[in-house]
Amino acid sequence: MNADLERLIALQKLDSTADAARKKLAAEPEHELALEARLEAAKQQVAAAKEQLAANKNARAALEKDVAVQQGRLSKFRETAMAVKTNQEYHAVQHEITFAQTEIKKIEDFILERMMESDDFTAALKTAEAELAAETKAVEAERRAISAAHVELQASLERIAAERAALIAGLNQSVFATFEAVARKRNGVAVAEARGGVCTICHVRLRPQVFNSAMRNDSILQCDSCNRILYFVPVPASAETAAADQPQQPAS
Ligand SMILES: [Zn+2]
Repeated sequence: MNADLERLIALQKLDSTADAARKKLAAEPEHELALEARLEAAKQQVAAAKEQLAANKNARAALEKDVAVQQGRLSKFRETAMAVKTNQEYHAVQHEITFAQTEIKKIEDFILERMMESDDFTAALKTAEAELAAETKAVEAERRAISAAHVELQASLERIAAERAALIAGLNQSVFATFEAVARKRNGVAVAEARGGVCTICHVRLRPQVFNSAMRNDSILQCDSCNRILYFVPVPASAETAAADQPQQPAS
């Protein structure tokens, strides 16, 4: 194979790997935001459960105050009942006593309901706290994984930069200029495999003489359509029949 062509294929592999690494690095802030959102959601659940429990506690305190007021009235009525002189007065105060007792019973039922609710709210708070603890752990693990990946990606970018410089140093500079010009126009991909008579990236059928030359891998040729530099991977003898069954179709 033409030595420059071989270097260009290697260069393309490096560039594509570096591009993928840079994309992963660029996605890190977004990933971190997603992790923060996960934690925030779990924290909100805990806060909501706490709020619910606090409201329940306040409601119970208010009801207990009401019971105390009614109990105060009740004992006053009972004292009055001891001192009444007439039957009419006795019935009147008895009526007040019954009323206060009914009120107390009603409020105590409300208190019981609030207490049962409080058990549910306490359980909900425990669940929310357990979820927050689990999310915190999971998010920390993800952050460690991200920062380990970050170190690896940076190291691989440095390795690639060194390998790239070495490759470029051995490359014909006008060939390299062509590679760079195509890469800039074609989203960083400047070489394409020619297979079955077509350029495998833009899918346009190559002129027969271009494809035949590309098959020899001995010169720098460009696809007429996308301008990518073409190379050919010889098909192993065993795969030739299988490839013949599925001819490549050019894109319209
Ligand atoms: Zn092409």
